[in-house]
Amino acid sequence: MADEFPALGRMLRVFGSRQIRNRATMGGNLVTASPIGDSAPVLLALDAKLGLASIEVNANGDVLGTWEETIPIKDFFISYRKTALQPDQILKRIIVPRFPSAPGLIRRCEWYKVSKRREMDISTVAACFTVDLDRGGIVRHARLAYGGVAAMPARALKTEEALLGKPWTYETIKNVLSILETEFTPISDVRGAAEYRRGLISSLFERFCFDTTARRRKRKFLPGSSPRPLRRRSVRSARKRAQTRHRRGNVRGRSLFRQNHARSLARLFTLCASKDFEARRNRRATNARHSRSVTRGRYSGPE
Ligand SMILES: Cc1cc2nc3c(=O)[nH]c(=O)nc-3n(C[C@H](O)[C@H](O)[C@H](O)COP(=O)(O)OP(=O)(O)OC[C@H]3O[C@@H](n4cnc5c(N)ncnc54)[C@H](O)[C@@H]3O)c2cc1C
Repeated sequence: MADEFPALGRMLRVFGSRQIRNRATMGGNLVTASPIGDSAPVLLALDAKLGLASIEVNANGDVLGTWEETIPIKDFFISYRKTALQPDQILKRIIVPRFPSAPGLIRRCEWYKVSKRREMDISTVAACFTVDLDRGGIVRHARLAYGGVAAMPARALKTEEALLGKPWTYETIKNVLSILETEFTPISDVRGAAEYRRGLISSLFERFCFDTTARRRKRKFLPGSSPRPLRRRSVRSARKRAQTRHRRGNVRGRSLFRQNHARSLARLFTLCASKDFEARRNRRATNARHSRSVTRGRYSGPE
């Protein structure tokens, strides 16, 4: 499946460890409805559907009938650790659409995980973003799904709405960030302070924009940023350095880790940052430093 859904493949490569991946099921990961489960954001961003099945038996144990209903995954999570699954139902199948939302659209989809450790660690925040663009680069479909920023895995619905019909440029992203920042109210817990998580909501989305526009960019300026020329070779080598750091060890996922997250973003973005972006970045780095010291050893939220 990783060939068809690279974001899903990247998520699975850093899911727990090989032993966990061999034993755990995606069904269990969804039904347990943890706000920081890694599969939910990917499946939300891919508009997956879930097949819920039930069986009716009489007093003698004879099967009277079986039923299956299919619901969109966005309706599956209803509150903290609660799902739409009824007591007599099981999760039978997960259906992931294979194609973009309409013919002729080009899909961009990326998954990000921020955790304290590279392996065997639950996410502090995980996010998966999908945008379908028409030939003119206009957003026709958008899904921004997060884990670790609310009581359950959730989508940023207002931001998705605001993106529709807009060109996929950094200018557009800057305009919708103010909406995105109001969509979730993360809590502090042992994995990260609320302020740190709030910063990640927008910075991961900015990173997605950077990853999906810079790679294919022909022009020399980031739209909406400072008119300083973007040196392509510098961007490439900065990205390569960041990736190499992530690829150390035996995990090859594109995940971000708390200790190098701010640094790699800073390195990539200094090459193309506008003044207000730099101010925001410095503020975030300060918050991240602060949250590291605040969260260490202190627990104030649910597991
Ligand atoms: C060391 C370690 C590392 C981990 N790392 C990660 C990580 O990086 N990312 C992450 O997201 N999670 C991680 N986890 C959590 C764990 O891997 C998942 O929650 C796992 O996917 C659960 O799957 P399971 O099949 O074991 O479910 P179970 O624990 O067997 O089931 C969970 C619940 O769901 C119910 N259930 C299971 N399947 C169905 C079904 N088909 N229909 C209806 N109900 C069902 C069960 O009855 C139970 O109530 C980690 C766990 C450990 C121990």
